[in-house]
Amino acid sequence: MYINVAQLLKEPTGSSRSFQIDESLGTDDINSVKGEVTLIRTNRGIMAKAEMTAGVTGICSRCLKPIDYDVNYDFNEECLPSVSTSEGLSSPDQTDNINIDESHMLDLSEIIRQYTLLTMPIKPLCRPDCAGICPSCGHNLNQGSCQCPSHAHDQRWSKLIHLGRESKT
Ligand SMILES: [Zn+2]
Ligand SMILES: [Zn+2]
Repeated sequence: MYINVAQLLKEPTGSSRSFQIDESLGTDDINSVKGEVTLIRTNRGIMAKAEMTAGVTGICSRCLKPIDYDVNYDFNEECLPSVSTSEGLSSPDQTDNINIDESHMLDLSEIIRQYTLLTMPIKPLCRPDCAGICPSCGHNLNQGSCQCPSHAHDQRWSKLIHLGRESKT
């Protein structure tokens, strides 16, 4: 995901450009990313402001079914040139993003990959009310209940019924 920023780097601080991104990545669990990126010239480099939607692949944490879903996020990251054009500037900290190469190509791939991974839920669900799998027999409870005698779910119900009986007496 390279953007040529040679022209923008020659412009005064505050100059900006907007780009639409719509790309297939096919790396890790990220299928695609799309959104709008605004690049703003800063005194040190370029600030990338983005609003992204990434299509990702995961596994439902309850029933282990493979699922495709979208994550949304935005970020502001300052990107610095790998070679300083003017002398006397202190070298950037190690924590800064150095992703503008010698030929003035800005690479957003790594930033987008990092933010997508950070935004992905730790325990994704195929649907909010996924019933999961039976801990005893492994049956997918979204496809109906299994033959196992008791589940936490059932126990909760019997407790409620029990409480109901008590309140009547
Ligand atoms: Zn599920
Ligand atoms: Zn079961």
